[in-house]
Amino acid sequence: MSDAIVRIMCPNLRCRAVLAVPNEARGRLVRCRNCGSNIRVPQKVVAPAVPDGDGADGDSVETSQNKPNAA
Ligand SMILES: [Zn+2]
Repeated sequence: MSDAIVRIMCPNLRCRAVLAVPNEARGRLVRCRNCGSNIRVPQKVVAPAVPDGDGADGDSVETSQNKPNAA
């Protein structure tokens, strides 16, 4: 997948056009070609951090050192 294109939706409720803008337009204003509104291109969206669960999905391999029975 290419990261070079950012898709944003026009916040204008009567427009809601999906605009594809280049990645370097992040943080800048672009103009909706449909309604002419200025839209700020959001910075890169970070995925919400996975909470530090206690191995709910068994995906943690690095817990082997953390055994409490190190007597
Ligand atoms: Zn628009």
